[in-house]
Amino acid sequence: MTHDEKVEKIIEQLRCRSGETIAFSKRSVRHVVPNHNDPRLKKHKIDMKALNEILAIDREARTCTAESEVTFSDLVQATLPLGLIPMTVPELKTITIGGAVSGSSVESMSYKYGGFHDNCLEYEVLSSDGRRIVCSDSERPDIFHMIHGSYGTLGILTRLKFRLIEAKPCVRLEYRHFDSFPSFFECLKERCQKDDYDFVDGIIHSPEHFVLCLVLMVDEAPYRSSYDWLNIFYRSTGERNEDFLSIYDYFFRYDTECHWLTRSIPLLEFKPVRFLLGKFLLGSTNLIRSANRLRYIMKPKHRPDVVVDVFIPADNFEVFYQWYEQDFKFFPLWIVPYQMPQIYPWVSEAQAKLIGSENFVIDCAVYGKKNNDPQIDYSELIQKKTHELGGIKTLISRNHYDPETFWKIYNKDRYDSIKAEMDPIDMFGDLYCKVHPPE
Ligand SMILES: Cc1cc2nc3c(=O)[nH]c(=O)nc-3n(C[C@H](O)[C@H](O)[C@H](O)COP(=O)(O)OP(=O)(O)OC[C@H]3O[C@@H](n4cnc5c(N)ncnc54)[C@H](O)[C@@H]3O)c2cc1C
Repeated sequence: MTHDEKVEKIIEQLRCRSGETIAFSKRSVRHVVPNHNDPRLKKHKIDMKALNEILAIDREARTCTAESEVTFSDLVQATLPLGLIPMTVPELKTITIGGAVSGSSVESMSYKYGGFHDNCLEYEVLSSDGRRIVCSDSERPDIFHMIHGSYGTLGILTRLKFRLIEAKPCVRLEYRHFDSFPSFFECLKERCQKDDYDFVDGIIHSPEHFVLCLVLMVDEAPYRSSYDWLNIFYRSTGERNEDFLSIYDYFFRYDTECHWLTRSIPLLEFKPVRFLLGKFLLGSTNLIRSANRLRYIMKPKHRPDVVVDVFIPADNFEVFYQWYEQDFKFFPLWIVPYQMPQIYPWVSEAQAKLIGSENFVIDCAVYGKKNNDPQIDYSELIQKKTHELGGIKTLISRNHYDPETFWKIYNKDRYDSIKAEMDPIDMFGDLYCKVHPPE
C-alpha cells in the first residue's frame, strides 16, 4: 500500500466515526502510564499500524522522511548503514517518531539539540474532519510548532521529515564519579558549555554517588560491552570508569531494564533468572506489557509507582535537588541536560519567564518510586515542587493540576486557536481532559 492509500484509509476511519472521541491503535506498546479508568481506553480506536515505513533517506541533504509509526529502533537500523543518525534518539526501542513529537522526548544529545521535534522539518497532519495539512517552519508554522506536546489532541501525525547527522559505529563512555552534588553539577554545566562530547547525561545513584556520563563516537573500539541480557547497564555506570558499546547498543542502553523498572521485581536482576527467562521478560516492550497486565488484573487499590519526567530550570536545579534528596529520596535518578532552541510556543508567557533566558533545563526522570503512603502522594508532591521552581512536568503519567493552574503553564490562546481549526468536530479531546482522566 502506498503512503497516500494508508492515509486515505485513516481518513475513511475518521469519517465513519465522525464526531465521536477516538483513541489510537498502535503497533507498539504505549509509553505513557496507563490509567485503567480512562474512558478513552474503551473508545473507538483509529488503526495507525500501517504507517510504519521509512519513505526516503537523502544521504546528501541528510534528511529522512518516514511514517509516524516507525520506531526509533527501526529508524536507527536503517540510517546507521549510511553513517547517519537522527539528532535525538529516545532510549526505548519501540517509542515511535510520531509519539516522540506528540508527547516529549529527551536523551543525551538533548543538551545541544533539544527534543526530537526540534530537528523536524515538516509534518503531514490530519485534522478530525479529514483534511491533510502539510506544515513546516515556513508553511503554517503556527500548526507546525504546536503539534509538539499536544498528545494527539491537535491532529494525527502521519508523515515526518527530519534532519540526520553523521555517526560513527561505536562510542566510548567515560564515567566521572563525584561524592557531592555541587562538584557533579558544576562539571555537567561546564561540559555542556564546552560542547566537546557527543552525548552528555548523568545518573545519581545515591546522595553520596553522582556519575556524569560523557560519551564520544569512535570508529573503533577495543571491545563492545553488551547489556541486552545478563548485564545491567545502569549498575555498570556506578562501577566502571570507562566502557565501549556499539552506537546502536548505546542508544538503547536503558531498554533492557526499561531504565531500572526491573528493580520493582528484584528477581529479574539475578543472573540465573535473566539467563533462563530474560529473553521473555526483559526489554522495555515486555516489561511495559507485563506491568500493564498486572495493573489491570490487580486493579490496584493503592496508587501506581511514580514514573515521571520533570524539566527544572538549570538555575533552580540545585534547590530542586536539595529538596529531592531530603523529601523525595528515590535513586537512581536520571539527569538529562536539555537545551530548548527557543521557548516552545505551547508554553504560556508567564511560564516562559520562569524558565529563564538561557532556555536551559535539567530533565529529571524518576522510574518506579513506590507511592503507598496514605499521607503523601509523591506524584503530586513532585509536581508541586516542580511548579514552585518554575519547571514543567511532562504529561506522561498521573497529573494533578486544576484547569486554572494547567492553563497558566500551557498557552491556552494558541492551543484553542489551532484546536478550532484542526479539530472542529471534537474527536481528539481536549488536552487538559485527556491528561486528567478520572482516577
Ligand atoms: C516508562 C517510560 C520510560 C520512558 N523513557 C523515555 C526515554 O528514555 N526517552 C524519551 O525520550 N522518552 C521516554 N519516555 C517518554 C516517551 O518518549 C513519550 O511518552 C512518548 O510520547 C511516547 O511515544 P510513543 O510512540 O510510545 O507513543 P504513545 O505512548 O502511544 O503516545 C504518546 C502520546 O502521543 C500521542 N500520539 C502517538 N502517536 C501519535 C500520532 N501519530 N499522531 C498524533 N498523536 C500521537 C498519543 O495519543 C499519546 O497522547 C518514557 C515514558 C515512559 C512511560
